[in-house]
Amino acid sequence: MGLIVQKFGGSSVADADRIRNVARIITETYKRGHDVVAVLSAQGDTTDDLIEKAKEINPHASKREMDMLLSTGEQISCALCAMAIEVLGCPVVSLTGWQAGVQSNTAYGNARIKRVVTERILAELDKRCIVIVTGFQGINKYGDITTLGRGGSDTSAVALAAALHADLCQIYTDVDGVFTADPRIVKDAHKLEEITFDEMLELATLGAQVLHNRSVEMAKRYNVNLEVLSSFSGRPGTKVKEVVKTMEKSHVSGIAKDKNIARLALVGLNDEPGIAFRIFSLLAKRKINVDIILQSIGRGDKKDISFTVSKSDTEEATRLLEENREYIGFDHIDVNDNIAKVSIVGAGMINNPGVAASMFEALFNAGINIHMISTSEIKVSVLVDLSDADRAVQVIHDKFFADNDGNM
Ligand code: ADP
Ligand code: ASP
Ligand code: MG
Repeated sequence: MGLIVQKFGGSSVADADRIRNVARIITETYKRGHDVVAVLSAQGDTTDDLIEKAKEINPHASKREMDMLLSTGEQISCALCAMAIEVLGCPVVSLTGWQAGVQSNTAYGNARIKRVVTERILAELDKRCIVIVTGFQGINKYGDITTLGRGGSDTSAVALAAALHADLCQIYTDVDGVFTADPRIVKDAHKLEEITFDEMLELATLGAQVLHNRSVEMAKRYNVNLEVLSSFSGRPGTKVKEVVKTMEKSHVSGIAKDKNIARLALVGLNDEPGIAFRIFSLLAKRKINVDIILQSIGRGDKKDISFTVSKSDTEEATRLLEENREYIGFDHIDVNDNIAKVSIVGAGMINNPGVAASMFEALFNAGINIHMISTSEIKVSVLVDLSDADRAVQVIHDKFFADNDGNM
């Protein structure tokens, strides 16, 4: 008998039948004698629909009011699920983020959880009550509702699991677990039985939305026993953990794609010290994250610097750099948002220099042009045209997984 946190994503609670299905999973766990805290996302596309509704009224709405609006989606699914559990005859209570003690910082729209005050949840569990908590939201020091960034319900679940010292944190979603690539793009992608926190963190950060990257970071920090599984199939899922049995075997664990980026190029910079510092310190001050950076070799006394930012930061980054054109000194900015980043991830890559070459070979054979490359100990990322992205994922997957397990 233990304490289990179960999180259900938007597609798992999309309509009445699915809510009943989730209520069944929760109550079955409860009837086996466990304490259950369930964290729910908003139903289906509710969060997107709410964003559209806001745009109709005010396209430049304040982040505080956006959070007030977006947090309602999770409240609906939680109340409905609690009602479905009442029908099944089990004691249940649904709680908003603040009722559940989820305290965050003040960064509306992308808040970070600072602590979870667990008293209320523990008091409900003591009464043998099932507790349903709204994902994706917290309360800040001003008593305002905050949201944790898109996909943030995973992080809510892991934070609760860590604070409650749960025995297990199960992330229920619409696929059977973590796959070698998005199973909706690559039909022969296969499910991983287990994956390390580090690899999962890279995959999530590089675009595999099956887990919110901050949830993986937190699970690693607090050593949460984490599992990703389907709310539909009943099949065993993927364990995410510190060390896995199969780590030695494969060079590549998975392939991820991120379409949410744009490439900015500053053309005609002076080839002198301090230029990169000026550019990137300006961006850092505005908290604009920069990913892949490429500097050309000089032509005469001129050079170019290209880098990627997330699509949502493109406008602000371009405006900021244009405003500082004289201070930085460049001819013009070239912006391309018809690109995607495709990455391979694997802890076994570090000792196998041929892995990157195999990836490039697969892209060459498919006639796919690489615009930029970036590598680290456990990943290789390339920038390709957006129209080539899905095909790039498929041919790289074929290269590493057609008849071997992530090896060349
Ligand atoms: P939820 O609503 O349950 O949070 P998400 O849509 O956020 O679900 O995440 C699940 C989706 O992640 C899957 O439907 C799948 O298309 C996508 N995905 C991308 N990469 C992977 C991967 N490597 N393994 C599994 N799913 C992936
Ligand atoms: N409902 C939020 C979103 O769509 C949070 C989540 O689903 O994790 O981003
Ligand atoms: Mg999600």
